[in-house]
Amino acid sequence: MIGVGDMVLLEPLSEDSFLENLKKRFDHNEIYTYIGSVVISMNPYRSLPIFTPEKVEEYRNRNFYELSPHIYALADEAYRSLRDQDKDQCILITGESGAGKTEASKLVMSYVAAVCGKGQEVNKVKEQLLQSNPVLEAFGNAKTVRNDNSSRFGKYMDIEFDFKGDPLGGVISNYLLEKSRVVKQPRGERNFHVFYQLLSGASDDTLKKLKLHRDFSKYNYLSLDSAIVNGLDDAANFRTVRNAMQIVGFMEDEVQSVLELVAAVLKLGNIEFKPESRCNGTDESRIKDKNDLKEMCELLGIEQSVLERAFSYRTVEAKMEKVSTTLNVAQAQAKTRHKVMGVLDIYGFEIFEDNSFEQFIINYCNEKLQQIFIELTLHEEQEEYIREGIEWTNIEYFNNAIICDLIENNQNGILAMLDEECLRPGTVTDETFLDKLNTICAEHQHFESRLSKNSKFLNDHSLPHNCFRIQHYAGKVLYRVEGFVDKNNDLLYRDLSQAMYKANHSLIKQLFPEGNPSKVNLKRPPTAGFQFKASVGTLMKNLQTKNPNYIRCIKPNDKKASHIFTESLVRHQVRYLGLMENVRVRRAGYAFRQAYEPCLERYKMLCKRTWPHWRGPEREGVEVLMTDLQVPADEFSYGRSKIFIRNPRTLFFLEERRRQC
Ligand code: ADP
Ligand code: MG
Repeated sequence: MIGVGDMVLLEPLSEDSFLENLKKRFDHNEIYTYIGSVVISMNPYRSLPIFTPEKVEEYRNRNFYELSPHIYALADEAYRSLRDQDKDQCILITGESGAGKTEASKLVMSYVAAVCGKGQEVNKVKEQLLQSNPVLEAFGNAKTVRNDNSSRFGKYMDIEFDFKGDPLGGVISNYLLEKSRVVKQPRGERNFHVFYQLLSGASDDTLKKLKLHRDFSKYNYLSLDSAIVNGLDDAANFRTVRNAMQIVGFMEDEVQSVLELVAAVLKLGNIEFKPESRCNGTDESRIKDKNDLKEMCELLGIEQSVLERAFSYRTVEAKMEKVSTTLNVAQAQAKTRHKVMGVLDIYGFEIFEDNSFEQFIINYCNEKLQQIFIELTLHEEQEEYIREGIEWTNIEYFNNAIICDLIENNQNGILAMLDEECLRPGTVTDETFLDKLNTICAEHQHFESRLSKNSKFLNDHSLPHNCFRIQHYAGKVLYRVEGFVDKNNDLLYRDLSQAMYKANHSLIKQLFPEGNPSKVNLKRPPTAGFQFKASVGTLMKNLQTKNPNYIRCIKPNDKKASHIFTESLVRHQVRYLGLMENVRVRRAGYAFRQAYEPCLERYKMLCKRTWPHWRGPEREGVEVLMTDLQVPADEFSYGRSKIFIRNPRTLFFLEERRRQC
């Protein structure tokens, strides 16, 4: 074993020794390390020979502590406890962009697919589950400065199983797709993969039908400085995506519709406007060159004059943000209760130099996930000790409920105040929103602003006037209010949705149901913040009903390079992921517990008095076993229904003895 495989066993424990251990293991290609049952995963940035079918076999049906740390061990444990103990599972994968979350989620899915069920029908479902990835990535991933294949949305997938543990299907939810990327990309970054894939990989014939040129430079929406990405074969990926769409269940005409839509978006980006003076002295926007508009209308079956009219409002800036699609794998419909394994791959804490509404929302989501972590791990841990009558020395931990409340409280939370401001008649600006925060949140101990009545920040020049700062559980983040109101409003003007609804194109019609004139809804649509809060709420409720498994991903360097371990960067992530806290909790308690019956079943062969049959209460059997094996008394405790083992070492010892038998 290189270094220490489980941080719980690290001696002495400090942030430095923690980092040292990570580095040592990383340098020897040991990218996985445990904190009890939590898996830390370091991105190796190169392919390691540890994801082979042989490895899958090695980890299959083995005890968590028997082999060296691996993501497969976690996947195996989760799957077996789902299948054999009927406990729904969730796999929570967090970490910053480029840390390896999406790859980890795919490894978990492919492991589960490899070990569950067999047969033609089951294999078809497995294929569909796995092939949902390339489709989602084509439409939701892009090259960014941090990651060549960065997911620009959060993803939660519930995989459903029948009573035998065979997969039935999956349901995917997407969170907060970065829609604005379609229109504009930061320097050195690309638009979503699908645009480049289509232009590079489609046949001449297809492109002709879609009225497209192969040349990226013809399209305003495709940034040129970074269109070609090393090691990314857009043309080959296009074929993969086409094939995946078919496997997932798209009919050929549906694929066609989707591609038409993609082409239409490219055309849309080329439509330029020029101001034209009207006789009343105001300006009106006019379309410069109508060829792109004409082709876009042909693709979507929209009458050109209708779309032109809809565009000719001065509100044209906010146009067409809604080009996202939700791609759901067919939902299994049977009424019986299914076993469910949820996999969450979601952006970790984001702290940039310039943080806006997006970071605010993402960090809110991470506060909620941290809360779940606290609730499920620490709280449940304590509760279990109480239930089992085991002595517990309270360990101090920070409960971040107070920060969640600052953001989401229905009366005076930041999101509620932003909504109130967005709905208020009169002049609403980002500044009036900030004023409101200053009056209402000034006293909150996790909120800071230069202009708050509470003038203690007046001289704090790290806190500019147009910003507020939140002390998150992971650290302080400064948010600039510019754009909060607009982004929260997320308005699509009714003229546009109505024009789109008139299209003779069933997919487009489906995407703009609010444009249906017979369903004119005078109520304004819910704000972006409100929607996100609601979907995070649903997600949390869902996760709370499941047994959590954690994968904490870490990016070793910001060069996307193998073999480089940048200590400061890793230290930062270890802090933001709360990993030290994690170890402390684990060490304060017992690393392992097992009900008496399975424990006796597994180890009874180690003792003459329990082998082959123990007649009597199981607990007594386990007591006999432990005495006989001379396990030191302070290494374990007897609970009401379970034995609690303090140290994984004891478990290694038991497993080793078993192997020798
Ligand atoms: P995230 O989803 O956290 O932003 P990704 O999972 O997309 O990060 O990983 C970023 C890149 O890092 C991948 O495209 C891949 O090149 C590399 N990578 C991540 N995990 C692994 C792994 N286990 N083995 C090899 N390369 C990996
Ligand atoms: Mg990702």
